[in-house]
Amino acid sequence: MKLILFGPPGAGKGTQAKMLIDKFNIVQISTGDMLRDEVQSETELGKSAKFIMDRGDLVSDDIIFAMIKKRIQMSDCNNGFILDGFPRTLNQAIGLEGLLEDLKIEIEKVIEIEVDENLLLERINKRALEDKNTRNDDNSLILKNRINVYKKDTVPVIEYYKSLRRLNTINGTQSIEKVFQDIVKIL
Ligand code: AMP
Repeated sequence: MKLILFGPPGAGKGTQAKMLIDKFNIVQISTGDMLRDEVQSETELGKSAKFIMDRGDLVSDDIIFAMIKKRIQMSDCNNGFILDGFPRTLNQAIGLEGLLEDLKIEIEKVIEIEVDENLLLERINKRALEDKNTRNDDNSLILKNRINVYKKDTVPVIEYYKSLRRLNTINGTQSIEKVFQDIVKIL
């Protein structure tokens, strides 16, 4: 099973991805997690990405694309994967199409977890208080920037999949379990 999962910051996308990988024995390909690993390991890539991530802006398409290209060809992806946090720009989505075509990989489902912006702001303020030490980009000002970046760069990607009639939208204001059930139904 191969899918793309969309959702703004605070929509619970990471939580759902983790539940899905357990249920379907597939892997999560999170570009955010991969970048955080690079930052943690203090690689050159990590050092240059850190400032961008700390502001809540997007890392360059070239860097992200090179990471995805390598990751998606690893053998643990054969049984299926969830793209979490990628593609985030139209340019990335178009690059992905070409890559999938080259590798003869087909994405079966594109899923968006939709949450009203006001509720998101409420959730992210709460998350910022709870996880103060885990993520540098989890303070409310930066999260607001991340939501704006999502609206500007990623909503057009969602519209793109919608125009291809490939988009499945889930109501993300429901409980974690109900959102999960709805996703499983689509799959
Ligand atoms: P995430 O955990 O998916 O919210 O990602 C955390 C941060 O990593 C984002 O705010 C971006 O700075 C960066 N990032 C993750 N995925 C991408 C991507 N596909 N394109 C550009 N930047 C990304």
